[in-house]
Amino acid sequence: MAVVTKAVKGTQDIMPDEVYKNQFIEQIMLDIAGKFGFREIRTPVFEHTELFQRGVGETTDVVQKEMYTFDDKGGRSITLRPEGTAGAARAFLEHGLFNEALPQKLCYILNCYRYEKPQAGRWREFQQFGVEMLGTASPAADAEIISLAKEIFAFLGVEGLQLELNSIGCPECRKNYHNALREYFEARKDKLCPTCLGRLEKNPMRILDCKSPICHEVAKDAPAILDYICDDCSAHFESVKKYLDKMNIEYVINPRIVRGLDYYTRTVFEFVSTEIGAQGTVCGGGRYDGLLEELGGPHTPSLGFAMGTGRLLMVMQAQGIEIPAPPTCDIYVAPMGENASFEAAAIVADLRASGVSAQTDVVGRSLKAQMKYADKIGAKYTMVLGDDELNSKTAKLKNMATGETTEAGLDGFADSFMEFIIKEETAALNASLGGELDGVDLSAILNQQF
Ligand code: ATP
Ligand code: MG
Repeated sequence: MAVVTKAVKGTQDIMPDEVYKNQFIEQIMLDIAGKFGFREIRTPVFEHTELFQRGVGETTDVVQKEMYTFDDKGGRSITLRPEGTAGAARAFLEHGLFNEALPQKLCYILNCYRYEKPQAGRWREFQQFGVEMLGTASPAADAEIISLAKEIFAFLGVEGLQLELNSIGCPECRKNYHNALREYFEARKDKLCPTCLGRLEKNPMRILDCKSPICHEVAKDAPAILDYICDDCSAHFESVKKYLDKMNIEYVINPRIVRGLDYYTRTVFEFVSTEIGAQGTVCGGGRYDGLLEELGGPHTPSLGFAMGTGRLLMVMQAQGIEIPAPPTCDIYVAPMGENASFEAAAIVADLRASGVSAQTDVVGRSLKAQMKYADKIGAKYTMVLGDDELNSKTAKLKNMATGETTEAGLDGFADSFMEFIIKEETAALNASLGGELDGVDLSAILNQQF
């Protein structure tokens, strides 16, 4: 097989025809997070392996089976990040953000790497948008990040994602729960997969998260954590629910949610879609009150979520949500001959400096081939430049959609084209609104667009 011309299994190219969709949702995610006070952080793609072993947890699928780990040439054990929280938490500690105003609100968009079985909605390289709020134990914070995820979905027009909520308590109240789980699974040991047999001893809650259908079935009647959480955790959970009720955010309690990463405490939640197949969890998050201490930092109750941008785009596609395509080329200047080519280069440079998207020939094509190219790239206007046009300092501007032509002077062309296009767009907008804008001066608004 031609290894060189085939992407690695589980990875995807996002091609230019599609990438604007990612750009669009990413910008919205960052903008909305910004309104909540989250500031973007960019951390390295790889970290010391130990960070994830400690931060994500030794008994998780991610650490046990899914990490891309290798020794670098200096003999360090390095891992490509499988998620974003551990890196953000490490940076928070390394840069002493715990001395700054708390909570620190961080957000990111990053590629993650997990050696999983590729299928619809599950890749080995995938992208997450995530937020982390570090330094607050208040249930108001839990409700706030849930409402942030909700607002992103609402802004994008995504409907029907179910918010599933659970509390997995604190290490203290989990002790009793672990005993109850061990007792339950001990009696059904013969049915568990080998991985879950190992988990039975170390972290029986992980069995609830096993992807094997048999373990899933065995776990159906297992004791529920909510029956075991302590008074403090219970009060926290009640308060989170009250905030959500107050904010009109609907949820269902799902006692089976334990989340795939070990560091979670108290509130855990997922937003789940039924429209994209088995991998329906678009967003998952919760509290991780013990993580920062686990990494050697001060006690810093914290929380966050991550949403898979790939899965979100799948839901948007399933719901027929249109993402506005980026503007195409405003004008293609087609030179005939060498002189005209120099002139065209200068004109498109002026146009671009004025904010217009302009292209010209950089191949040396015939006029016919250039017009074909202009059509293919969706140029709104074309202008042919030959010796006659250069001598008379005027050229014909052709509207590619209507075929109409207009005479244009070449002196100060960039400015006059701007004015012209603004007028055209105003007229088109007015026509689309049935003349509602007759007499309104929209040039100031449209000017800002360029
Ligand atoms: P799952 O149960 O689907 O394996 P998870 O619990 O491992 O998810 P998290 O670690 O919480 O997932 O990651 C947050 C989000 O990132 C998920 O809800 C999902 O949208 C996305 N995600 C996780 N793993 C993948 C993957 N392999 N490919 C694509 N998206 C993923
Ligand atoms: Mg997973």
